[in-house]
Amino acid sequence: MTSQHPKKALCHLAIGLLLAAASTWVVAAEVAVDPADNGANIRDDTTDDADSRSSEVAAMAQELVEAVPSHPQDVPLAEAVTTAEGLAEPLLLLDTEIAPGSTIRLSWSATELFEGVPVSTPVLVVNGALPGPTLCLTAAVHGDELNGVEMVRRVLHDLNAEKLSGAIIGVPIVNVQGFRRGSRYLPDRRDLNRYFPGNPKGSAAARIAHSFFTNVVAHCDALVDLHTGSFERANLPQIRADLRNPDVVTLTQGFGAMVILHSSPAVGTLRHAATEAGIPAVTLEAGGPSQLELNEVKHGVKGIQTLISAIGMMRKKRLWAADPEPVYYRSSWVRADSGGILLADVSLGSTVREGDLLGTITDPMSNARSELHSPYTGRIIGMARNQVVMPGFAAFHVGIATAEAPVDPPVEAPAESTVHEDTDASDDYVDGMSE
Ligand SMILES: [Zn+2]
Repeated sequence: MTSQHPKKALCHLAIGLLLAAASTWVVAAEVAVDPADNGANIRDDTTDDADSRSSEVAAMAQELVEAVPSHPQDVPLAEAVTTAEGLAEPLLLLDTEIAPGSTIRLSWSATELFEGVPVSTPVLVVNGALPGPTLCLTAAVHGDELNGVEMVRRVLHDLNAEKLSGAIIGVPIVNVQGFRRGSRYLPDRRDLNRYFPGNPKGSAAARIAHSFFTNVVAHCDALVDLHTGSFERANLPQIRADLRNPDVVTLTQGFGAMVILHSSPAVGTLRHAATEAGIPAVTLEAGGPSQLELNEVKHGVKGIQTLISAIGMMRKKRLWAADPEPVYYRSSWVRADSGGILLADVSLGSTVREGDLLGTITDPMSNARSELHSPYTGRIIGMARNQVVMPGFAAFHVGIATAEAPVDPPVEAPAESTVHEDTDASDDYVDGMSE
């Protein structure tokens, strides 16, 4: 896939989208923790070798970033909007040559990882008749997150290869072992999304991650990783992105009226590993685990289809009647201070003011009741389902409305002393509340 004027086209896209959105954006100056700090604090691991895993991932991340051949264009997404010149080329993926204008179902297998039996999962590919970038959609990296599985199916089966510029690769179920068991984790209770880009000589999780990253993800020019909330929590459909990376920012601007949340990815997540390898990546979160939620699925599909149009891969469709949603540069989880039965007084998407009642926690034995109030003015972008909670349980995720300057690029990130406590992304990863 060749392009003649990638940077110029990227600028046009970025400027156009910025102008369209600028009037409604809420901006802020706070920046979350430095991405380089994230790896050290990740403790969301149910195995006893979390420490060796951390160093393993860190070492392999560097090695693999060097090993993966660099992309021919230095701003991968720019390819997306330069479809006017050149001819579409066959796509070589998983030992298969996919001709322009064709649709195919391949199979990826991390070969003989479990009891010597290969476990394979489908990889859907639509290679457009026109030249363009390769956009990848991945779902169920956590095996119990079903909404994304259906989103990938809907998006991929709705594409017309004759009218598509570039290619779309959809992997509906990355963690097929977890999916079969209805579990977030791999059979060895590791979280696959803490092991990217993987290690061919590491743990089972690291090997699966490495196989997937080199065989599939390395072929992408941009990536959208689909997730839901975890552990009986649901998320308002939202894009999570490191808004200090300009290529990632450009990607977020294509999704239409979706909430965008600044979130620096932890080392080991697919989002982090892909972006480090020069492939701008975002997470699309929608709904909760272990169920199919049609409204969330439709919202996500609409966002992805809008992106496909916005980056020039398909003719423009007008999908959104609503105004763009604000960008939240900061967010905070409100935690339970007592244990008991949590009942919410707000719903996903509710607008809240500082001091508003979010929910109550009632001790089922003593009947003592406590209230949770919002410390911020903002919007409920994630929340726990009604359930029994312990003190410290993260119950409501508030996107904080602010009116400050946008975040700086990574090189200008503030010193640690200025990092606001409530933007500490590492806590989210520890609690499994981020992808
Ligand atoms: Zn997830």
